[in-house]
Amino acid sequence: MRAAKRSTALAAMPYGTLGWYRGSSAPNDGRGLFFAPAGRRRLPGRTSFWRQPDRWREAGEPLQGVRVVIVVMRPGADDAAVARVAGRLRDLGFDAHISRGSERTVIGAVGDKNVLPGTDLEAMDGVEKVVPIRQPFKLASREGHPEPTLVRVAGVEVGGPEVVLIAGPCSVESREQLLQTAHAVKAAGARILRGGAYKPRTSPYGFHGLGEEGLDLLAEVRAEVGLPIVTEVMSPQAVERVARVADCLQIGARNMQNYDLLREVGSTKMPVLLKRGLAATIQEWLMAAEYLLAGGNHDVILCERGIRTFETATRFTLDLNAVPVVKEMCHLPVIVDPSHGTGRSALVPALARAGVAAGADGLIVEVHPNPAEALSDGPQTLNFAAFAHMAADVQRVAAAIDRELHPARSPAAHA
Ligand code: PEP
Ligand code: MN
Repeated sequence: MRAAKRSTALAAMPYGTLGWYRGSSAPNDGRGLFFAPAGRRRLPGRTSFWRQPDRWREAGEPLQGVRVVIVVMRPGADDAAVARVAGRLRDLGFDAHISRGSERTVIGAVGDKNVLPGTDLEAMDGVEKVVPIRQPFKLASREGHPEPTLVRVAGVEVGGPEVVLIAGPCSVESREQLLQTAHAVKAAGARILRGGAYKPRTSPYGFHGLGEEGLDLLAEVRAEVGLPIVTEVMSPQAVERVARVADCLQIGARNMQNYDLLREVGSTKMPVLLKRGLAATIQEWLMAAEYLLAGGNHDVILCERGIRTFETATRFTLDLNAVPVVKEMCHLPVIVDPSHGTGRSALVPALARAGVAAGADGLIVEVHPNPAEALSDGPQTLNFAAFAHMAADVQRVAAAIDRELHPARSPAAHA
């Protein structure tokens, strides 16, 4: 009876669902936790764990039923060694998925980890360690990767001791606008220039960016000012074009669960700024990061940019809990976006300081020569003086928690 009800409840869940199960038909009522990997069909009679509800976890032991291990290969392990380990895993009944990063290869494997003790896996050539993973985001999880990941964006390290300031206009509007902003934010200590050439807008009548012309302007201004560029890519078809110019590809909040886009960006070797979806749980956000990592792109920076809550006094609610929570669960760097997180320029400096105090590895802030005239997001955008002032205050917060900020070029920049 229980099992039958359970199957019915599970059959009604979309694939890729993580939820709690108590043996009634309500999927979220607080006891058992189950995970059904996305893209896998739960066919009756199949043997894998996610198709056997009675083998899924019972109350109180998170994800007991998710039997994932990752095999971390040593840096420099060659293709033949990786293939031998993957073959051995398959012989042991695992579904092996190879993910090649710039420094090392890991093999994610789903199967019965109880068969592992006594096998030769850990002793195989090229294997550094075999780690059982209980989280569904196996490559993003801290369990298999306790050290923090450092992402280099054209030489700027995100996730190290420095708190990295990223700043620039919401949209690229003109050469003058971008160039002036780039000079101003660089003088105030920014290390990376932001600016959208392709803009996701709520209204079809809004300004949707300059497109290719915007990309050309970003490339020109980078050459002149020397700041690396982060810019948004909205569709899988545009990835190649945007990647030719960008130093870091931004996946916007509205596209966090665009799985085709995640797959395409995952297949590049370019750093990615993955914004949290407007209504995404931390788990869903980390699963989105998992797509990028599983595609072999390990250079992922997470960005908390505010979520939807019942509150209407601010555009979004900046979830600063997410910073230490993600740091606990995941090894990727996390930055905070106080501009979208509040929607109001007057609130941006306070939330920038709070984000750094909460442990963010950087900030992304919208800046414009004249926010009142910005073609998008003007109300949450800082002018040059306000940005310089904010940067100086953030510097003091960073110092208080033993982190550093790239210094402003001159005290005059704070005027
Ligand atoms: C942006 O960075 O301008 C933007 C559109 O951000 P988000 O995707 O977080 O709304
Ligand atoms: Mn914006």
